[in-house]
Amino acid sequence: MEKYCDRVLIFYAGKIVEEGPAELVFTEPGHWYTKCLLEAMPKQKKRGRELFEIPGRVPSAAERTAILSGENPPCLFANRCPFARELCHEKSPARIDLGQKHFAACQLARPPKEIRKIDGPGEGRKEIRGGIQDE
Ligand code: SF4
Repeated sequence: MEKYCDRVLIFYAGKIVEEGPAELVFTEPGHWYTKCLLEAMPKQKKRGRELFEIPGRVPSAAERTAILSGENPPCLFANRCPFARELCHEKSPARIDLGQKHFAACQLARPPKEIRKIDGPGEGRKEIRGGIQDE
């Protein structure tokens, strides 16, 4: 995909959850929905193995409206996210500037200086741009 466009916007349930240079979004995603999408993509090296599947489903437009009209709207991806924390269910994530015109609306997104290794879905430990927050 990065061969065909310079910038990419990732939408979830009608909201932009990540935006940035295509190469960065595909190699160092900052939002867990983007990471799950990439993990679910078929690849030659995954041949013969079961693909990662994001549990649950996208909320309908009516469900989305109901969720967002609550007093403390959560992250819309919280019920499906493998790394959702209590905070994700209580507060809508702010748009975090990851540098190089790359943004992600995730409670765990961190600028590059805070990159560290964490467990990801599907294939064990991997280096990611989002990082993870200590509780
Ligand atoms: S804000 Fe929380 S639930 Fe939403 S994508 Fe980030 S970690 Fe997952």
